[in-house]
Amino acid sequence: MSDKTDQEWLDSLSAEQYRVMRQHGTEHPFSGKYADCKINGTYVCAGCGEALFSSDSKFDSGTGWPSYYQAINNSAVEETTDHSLGMTRTEVHCKKCGSHLGHVFPDGPQPTGLRYCINSVSLELKEKD
Ligand code: FE
Repeated sequence: MSDKTDQEWLDSLSAEQYRVMRQHGTEHPFSGKYADCKINGTYVCAGCGEALFSSDSKFDSGTGWPSYYQAINNSAVEETTDHSLGMTRTEVHCKKCGSHLGHVFPDGPQPTGLRYCINSVSLELKEKD
């Protein structure tokens, strides 16, 4: 988990990033810069820079949030059960720094059938050269 104190997160993130990433918030659909992004590259954690998702597994979910059918590898993200808002969902966070990323749902495309529904503000795209 993160080595940063809460104050250090407050100081290093935007207010919206802090609300989403450190307080398990959700950005408004279609508000994020990566929802419709088709650029090739690697999406890294906005909190710590760890590689999390590849553009190769991004798909157009129509939800207004960037969506991927898998993480970039088996150790990039961790999942926990989230009972907030009266729903049972699977929460996804960066394994390295613990920042909240979004949720994963079992209604994605093949080959995994999963939909990682991720907040744009939790990500930063490193474009391929
Ligand atoms: Fe991180």
